[in-house]
Amino acid sequence: MIEKKKVFVIGAGIAGLTSAAILSKLGLSVTLIESHKQSGGCAGTFKRNGYIFDVGATQVAGLESDGIHSKIFKFLQIEIPDASLLDPSCIVDLNDGSDPLIYGMRAVNGFLKGRGNFLVVKDSGSFAI
Ligand SMILES: Cc1cc2nc3c(=O)[nH]c(=O)nc-3n(C[C@H](O)[C@H](O)[C@H](O)COP(=O)(O)OP(=O)(O)OC[C@H]3O[C@@H](n4cnc5c(N)ncnc54)[C@H](O)[C@@H]3O)c2cc1C
Repeated sequence: MIEKKKVFVIGAGIAGLTSAAILSKLGLSVTLIESHKQSGGCAGTFKRNGYIFDVGATQVAGLESDGIHSKIFKFLQIEIPDASLLDPSCIVDLNDGSDPLIYGMRAVNGFLKGRGNFLVVKDSGSFAI
């Protein structure tokens, strides 16, 4: 009889949750240990004065059909969450006279029309869920 391997994953942030889910899917016995009262880590939420805020992560890259998250959802046989492409996904404007950097593919057509010079950086696509 093959012994079922036991694995302990420390931390239920995105990395720990993903590792635990994959290892569990592969048939290992997984215990996920989290020191905080909720899972998610930097991709979790917190409450202040009755409002809910994101701790950090608000955009997701890798939900495109061959992206890393799509591959993981497919492997886990979990439905891919409903998401829409953010475009532009990110704008870095230091307001120091230098041209803003715009991450996205269609940004040129609308976002900073008439604003002057800007540099468009093609990115791999970010999504909002
Ligand atoms: C402000 C901000 C904005 C961001 N924006 C984005 C974004 O838009 N898009 C994006 O893709 N990424 C973004 N990121 C990065 C992304 O959030 C992190 O890279 C990712 O969530 C990290 O996941 P992780 O599992 O590696 O670590 P963490 O999220 O840090 O998770 C670690 C977990 O381990 C737990 N832990 C630690 N020590 C112990 C212990 N000894 N025992 C038990 N549990 C323990 C912690 O409580 C935590 O839950 C952002 C990050 C920040 C801070």
